[in-house]
Amino acid sequence: MKATPTAGARTRAVIYCRISQDRTGAGLGVDRQREDCEALATRNGWEVLETYVDNDISAFSGKKRPAYRRMLADLDAGKATVVIVWHTDRLTRSIVELEEYIDLSDRRGISTHTVQAGTVDLATPSGRMTARILGAVARQESEHKGERVARARRQKALNGDWMGGIRPFGWGLPTGEMRTKVDRKTGEEVEEPELDMLKAVPEEAEALRYWTDQMLSGGSIRSLVQWCADKGVTTTRGNPVTHTDMRDMLMRPRNAGIAVYRGEEVGRGKWDPIVDETKYRAVVAILKDPSRRTVRGNQPKWLGSLLYRCGRGDCPHFVYVTQSGGRQFPSYRCQSAHGGGRRAEVVDQYVEDTIVERLSRDDAHELLLPAPDDVDVAALQAEAEEIRGRMRNLAGMYGGGQIDEVQFTEGTDTARGQLEGITQQLARAAEVDPLVELVGAKDPRKAWRAMPLDRQRTVLRSLVEVTLKTPRPGRMPDGGYFDYEAVVFSWKRGGS
Ligand SMILES: [Zn+2]
Repeated sequence: MKATPTAGARTRAVIYCRISQDRTGAGLGVDRQREDCEALATRNGWEVLETYVDNDISAFSGKKRPAYRRMLADLDAGKATVVIVWHTDRLTRSIVELEEYIDLSDRRGISTHTVQAGTVDLATPSGRMTARILGAVARQESEHKGERVARARRQKALNGDWMGGIRPFGWGLPTGEMRTKVDRKTGEEVEEPELDMLKAVPEEAEALRYWTDQMLSGGSIRSLVQWCADKGVTTTRGNPVTHTDMRDMLMRPRNAGIAVYRGEEVGRGKWDPIVDETKYRAVVAILKDPSRRTVRGNQPKWLGSLLYRCGRGDCPHFVYVTQSGGRQFPSYRCQSAHGGGRRAEVVDQYVEDTIVERLSRDDAHELLLPAPDDVDVAALQAEAEEIRGRMRNLAGMYGGGQIDEVQFTEGTDTARGQLEGITQQLARAAEVDPLVELVGAKDPRKAWRAMPLDRQRTVLRSLVEVTLKTPRPGRMPDGGYFDYEAVVFSWKRGGS
């Protein structure tokens, strides 16, 4: 659209400038934008009525742009028919904003002229398309900036930079130099040996390798914790090694030379591994395998350990089983030492009876969680594979110059969205209700007894909360010593 200057009735124009960090072109300050825009107006003989300026550090900060809003209102009120901007990315920051702007332009017959990209004729489909594409490119540039920052952090992870905090077991060999550090608690300066976090501490490295081999030949975390206690091996803070410490130490990717950023492996680090990567992965697999827990004796041997609540008075603790303190039988007690009248076998038998009774009722099927809709896992997996193939294709086409960046990002964004949906569907399908094996079984008690303890505990966990209240004193009416009424069931599904 060409504006023709006529004497007396000059075309009314406004200028819009925006300062932000996502600069198009080199270091584009607001003065430069304004000068270029004014020059454009002069060349065309337009009268500039007002210059609107917003200070907006990031195009995606979502901050309001008061000057921009004011300009739209003015334009809607018919103040001008020409808008001058340096580049369309100054004007709109999202497709939504662009659509609003196009709508206004249509309504008021406004034409938009840019210093960089010439006239954007929003009145024609091709002009609107151009504006949309220019907007998409600007967005892409802004996203790239976020990517650059992430890439820099990732690089730090690959370099093995230690962000401070507690020294990881195995790492940090003294360099022989000393450094001064301000003690956080006292505020005093203290001298301490400088550590090279990329170098292994020989004796700790040896321990890590020994533990790994032990785990691979059937050892347990418990036995390794005991080993540390026997040998006087402590954490890097000098504390006794706990079960959790041992697990963390064995599962630290750094030990195998693997760099991690935000909990995800990002590649091979630039340091020598302590533990062979294959062995490391095998140990991680062992420690993550849920079936292992019952086999290794790390998990409770009783149905209700750490699942039943104490509930004596308003005691909030979970109970575990112990036979200490001169008791004749293993009994449930809590960390506040509440016990008595809680013989483990009797409690567990009663809980089993109650659960089996509930699952034997005619309406037991009502306890089942709604099954996921027919999820065709194979079809979903095939679809996911097809999408991944498409993404690889797009990358190849982009790399080969057959498609441009906009087409590439739009294509991959779509694919990624679809892939995410499929992943959610698959995750839903994988959730199996632990009750399924019991409800509808011909003999629920037999089915219950056939279950390994960890499965029984899973059923318990998802079905009912058991609280061991204070038993009434003395002999019970049925002549026993066990007060069944002190075992309280709070059903998590299907009411009572
Ligand atoms: Zn208690």
